[in-house]
Amino acid sequence: MDPVVAEARTFQLFIAGEWVDSGGGRTFESRNPADTRDLIGHFQAGTAADVARAIRSAETAGLRWRRTPAPKRGEILYRFGALLAEHKERLARAMTREMGKVLTEARGDVQEGIDIAFLMAGEGRRLFGDTTPSELPDKWAMSIREPIGVAGIITPWNFPMAIPCWKMMPALVSGNTVVFKPSSDTPHCATLLVELMAAAGFPAGTVNLVTGPGAEVGDAIVSSPDVPVISFTGNTETGRRLATQAATRLKRVSLELGGKNGIVVLADADLDLATDGILWSAFGTTGQRCTAASRVIAERTVVDPLLERLERRAKALRLGSGLDSGTDVGPLVNAGALSKVTGYIEVGRREGELVTGGRRGSSAGLEHGHFFEPTIFAGVAPMDRIAQEEIFGPVLSVIPVDDYQGAVTALNQVRYGLSSSIFTRDANTAFRAMRDFETGIVYINAGTIGAETHLPFGGTKETGNGHREAGHAALDTYTEWKSIYVDFSGHLQRAQIDNQPG
Ligand code: NAD
Repeated sequence: MDPVVAEARTFQLFIAGEWVDSGGGRTFESRNPADTRDLIGHFQAGTAADVARAIRSAETAGLRWRRTPAPKRGEILYRFGALLAEHKERLARAMTREMGKVLTEARGDVQEGIDIAFLMAGEGRRLFGDTTPSELPDKWAMSIREPIGVAGIITPWNFPMAIPCWKMMPALVSGNTVVFKPSSDTPHCATLLVELMAAAGFPAGTVNLVTGPGAEVGDAIVSSPDVPVISFTGNTETGRRLATQAATRLKRVSLELGGKNGIVVLADADLDLATDGILWSAFGTTGQRCTAASRVIAERTVVDPLLERLERRAKALRLGSGLDSGTDVGPLVNAGALSKVTGYIEVGRREGELVTGGRRGSSAGLEHGHFFEPTIFAGVAPMDRIAQEEIFGPVLSVIPVDDYQGAVTALNQVRYGLSSSIFTRDANTAFRAMRDFETGIVYINAGTIGAETHLPFGGTKETGNGHREAGHAALDTYTEWKSIYVDFSGHLQRAQIDNQPG
């Protein structure tokens, strides 16, 4: 059946509170990855000149926004969160249509946006600093958080609403203004978000949206001397280039990058529970989560019973449009992702044993989408390419090890460090894992997915550069500490000298 396609609309940039065309006059398309005949719309291919306009508008708006009392800024975040909740179903459906994740997960993506909006709305009445004693008499000491200025927000397509909200909510509540450049795979999701931000009452210029290619729009944001802080989520190589470029201007750059997350299954694990956790982590969002599990590191004695369960359950997963209630696994995001995953299947065949999957989804109704079967390789060695490189698709490697120590070594022997998990019934081993796993997030008896917005989110090693999103930690990216000393003694007092012996 042909998709019903209404006349595709042309969407605009949002600069200084107005919806406007790009000065460059070019557009690009966004299409449904489950059926590429379905054209979602035409979007502005922004230019460096558009970015310059957006930055100027953000700078101007920032003069007033940073003086707006933080609790009042928080109230606008609260209204935005309430609007997201009101429009959750519409937003989730638009997300599934544009990037493919199944509808239940798309609802979860919007929910993360709601959660962080409400969490950061509350920060409007906290934004805590410290008041602390001075070493000198009649002197007051305190530290406060101050906004930095214009924040450049550059985001991927895999959490097209949650990730922009994780970044924009803490940036805005702490008094910064933003220039937001979304992935070109999800410009419609970004547009819908910004429409609701405008409706919530963010003043003109505090939020600016510039869609368009990373190499032009992203680059113009990163290279501008007037954008002192960049928050980027995406591929490790893109992040590395961007951070190198930003370093020449000594910008603050928060990077959330790739992952190669592993699940350890020990001999004493509940294998049915582990199977549930592995399937959800490996094949949820078609393996396209930064926290997706692409490695299972299992004690040799349980590899066979675990593989038997995984194979049976993976074969039963239904591919299809995420809008169909019977679908378990949606499409990959685009043709490039499909060809990358297909390339890794050849690598995997050389390195391990293909247990299930390994092909494009071929059943009726899938021919116009980027579908790929949930795939499992067994007998993979820790340093094999499929166990080391981020594939970002529904491909799982099972790595046998001799014992807990072997599992820790294999788990940590990758260049990424986002999420990890262990299935064991032994409390002592669980606590050792919390200590030994070198990742920013560790789960015990659950898969590698399930972050909540009030805890810090981010990874070690090449997953990032030490910053964290969400939780109070997110505020550190978007604020400068200012330490203030008030001397009410009426005479000169010298720290480290007066009031000291000798
Ligand atoms: P990507 O790096 O291709 O693109 C991310 C963003 O950067 C897009 O908006 C893109 O247009 C922009 N961009 C591209 N080139 C640029 C340049 N030269 N200058 C400035 N901006 C540029 O990543 P993607 O394919 O959209 O996302 C998938 C990747 O994101 C995966 O590696 C995944 O692990 C990672 N990711 C990480 C996290 C995390 O929190 N660690 C979360 C989600 C996704």
